[in-house]
Amino acid sequence: MKKVSIQKPILNANDRLAQKISAKLDGAGVFAVNVMASPGAGKTSLILATVRALKKKFNTAVIEGDVVPVDVDRIKKLKVPAIMANTGGACHLDAVMVQKALSKLRLQSLDLLIVENVGNLICPMNFKLGTHLNVVIASVPEGADKPYKYPGMFKGAQVLILNKADYLKTERFNLKYFKKGVRLLNPNVKFFTVSAKTGEGIDDWISWLDDQVINYRFQT
Ligand code: MG
Ligand code: ZN
Repeated sequence: MKKVSIQKPILNANDRLAQKISAKLDGAGVFAVNVMASPGAGKTSLILATVRALKKKFNTAVIEGDVVPVDVDRIKKLKVPAIMANTGGACHLDAVMVQKALSKLRLQSLDLLIVENVGNLICPMNFKLGTHLNVVIASVPEGADKPYKYPGMFKGAQVLILNKADYLKTERFNLKYFKKGVRLLNPNVKFFTVSAKTGEGIDDWISWLDDQVINYRFQT
């Protein structure tokens, strides 16, 4: 019972800072995406494909929640700003980490910011970052039971991307069961089936995200 009373004020402080970040992003007209998934689901691969497709149209930057700059270095090869938000080994990004990373970016010159959260399907959804869109990636090799095991992540997503669709031919993956779980938890979620490796389905996701950024820019 004592733990409850400790955790609530921490979440509130985080959410307050997230609101400030959100206002800052809106002030600069930057549409921000929070990408969450378990380790190895293909967050960085999907981000790379997204940046490749949209960097000419939108000035794009990436924040990587990590302790080593392996993924940051992969993003930097695409010649877009990439900042590591050092998580110090934490299991999620929080608003303080994102705020620190944001201070290293020139927000006024950006249109699109992609934040790669820590690989974890338990708690990242509980920590608001001030972003506009929650994207959760699941992948075929992880199995079709993920929505049933991690309902919080699937409930909080606005976009659900099923990655590694190329494995659908070889793995025993019950797509119907997976989709049923997703729909039960989150009937309005935008659903994409993609393979970041082969490029299958990526165009649908890209053109949808493109529309979101354009719509956002009309509003701000
Ligand atoms: Mg990664
Ligand atoms: Zn955590």
